[in-house]
Amino acid sequence: DKSNAWENDRAHVIHPYTDFSTFSNEGSQIIERAEGMYVTDTDGNKLLDGIAGLWCVNIGHGRKEMAETIAEQVMNMQYYNPFGHSSNIPAATLGAKLAELAPGDLNHVFYTCGGSTANDAAIRLVHYYFDMKGQHRKKKIISRQNGYHGATYVAASLTGIHGTKTGFDRIGEDFITHVSAANLYDKPEGWSDGDYCDYLVREFEARIQQLGPDNVAAFIAEPIMGAGGVLVAPDGYHKRMWEICKKYDMLYIADEVVTAFGRLGEWFASEAIYGYQPDILVCAKGISSGYIPLGATLISTEIYDVISKPQCVGGVLSMGLTYFGHPVACAAALKNIEILERENILGNVKEVGTYFQDSAKSLLNQPIVGDVRGSQLMMGIDLVADKKTKTPIDMSEKAAGTIFQKCIERGVIIRPVGDCLVLSPPLIISKEQCDQIINTVNESITEFVAQR
Ligand code: PLP
Repeated sequence: DKSNAWENDRAHVIHPYTDFSTFSNEGSQIIERAEGMYVTDTDGNKLLDGIAGLWCVNIGHGRKEMAETIAEQVMNMQYYNPFGHSSNIPAATLGAKLAELAPGDLNHVFYTCGGSTANDAAIRLVHYYFDMKGQHRKKKIISRQNGYHGATYVAASLTGIHGTKTGFDRIGEDFITHVSAANLYDKPEGWSDGDYCDYLVREFEARIQQLGPDNVAAFIAEPIMGAGGVLVAPDGYHKRMWEICKKYDMLYIADEVVTAFGRLGEWFASEAIYGYQPDILVCAKGISSGYIPLGATLISTEIYDVISKPQCVGGVLSMGLTYFGHPVACAAALKNIEILERENILGNVKEVGTYFQDSAKSLLNQPIVGDVRGSQLMMGIDLVADKKTKTPIDMSEKAAGTIFQKCIERGVIIRPVGDCLVLSPPLIISKEQCDQIINTVNESITEFVAQR
């Protein structure tokens, strides 16, 4: 009921990532309708969605075809037990489609409800795989500072973003360890990109040595760190980290929850853009463009062959979610992929994404913008107090949040993340809409600077 939506929300809904001390109706929004590149709130404000919901609405909002597909699947068969020998047509068909699109021999999929559960599944599969191989000590996982991998306890432990652990008990610290983020903007003064890459690779190898290679099972990384501030690694970084994994009999887990399904112009970024072949690839978000929750953990034939051999534990893989391979979610994902293919949306990303990145460089003229980075339709704009020293803007200034509000007033939604402004629009964006976003961010920063 629209008339008391606020009362109900404030009384009963626990909002993720909310400062409860400042929680009020002011500046908050209830989104009621969504179509194409736009969403409309309960006050009738129509806003250009510069963040695709939360990095996920790749095909744009409100597609009737998606609604029809979902309704049809519900009417045919909305759900049935996916355990053991039971399956459904959309789950099987999507499995084959993912195997066709995914790089190399990532031919088997474990379905989940989203990115966090898909990362949890990845870690369980890594542990199970080495156990089945008799390498019972190979359990440790290396993750990265500033990496974001989700909100369930293991995924949150993999996450390396400062502040996300406050108030929660530490778990997983006996088997999860973090190495430095790869962030070109943070490269020490006087170092070349190559020096910086060498440093990160050396640090990684030293950590493996320190933990003991027989104990280290896997490395997990996003191709470009998303929620950690759109951090871009130096050229060759991922390939070299992957080579180190191979040297020490470790698995490389690519967390492509944000980057898969076109955000960087390819179905999957790891092999097509960064030239390495992950052993496990985790996706969610763009797989169904947020129309229905779905996550998928893709594993290589090598891993599948080991875990499917009935040599231990009676050959039973004792993990699975009620909504594994949910037929409605899988049908939605298949239709979403069909739309991405039919409309050549990845082609649009390649064309418009370059334009977006190039035109956003103009923001560097702002006195408080230290860096504009990213790739295609994934962008981070760093706010700094001092461009020369790259000192981040003081959080007490609430710069990102204030600029976000100013953008809303001008009809554009962006995302404030710490001292960074994040942009990740739906992949159907036009060049004119890119201009609108960049101009709005520019005007909002100008106004913020003037009022400082
Ligand atoms: N991994 C990455 C890279 C993400 O960006 C996210 C969510 O933003 C997740 C995992 C967690 O996905 P979910 O929120 O669907 O559980």
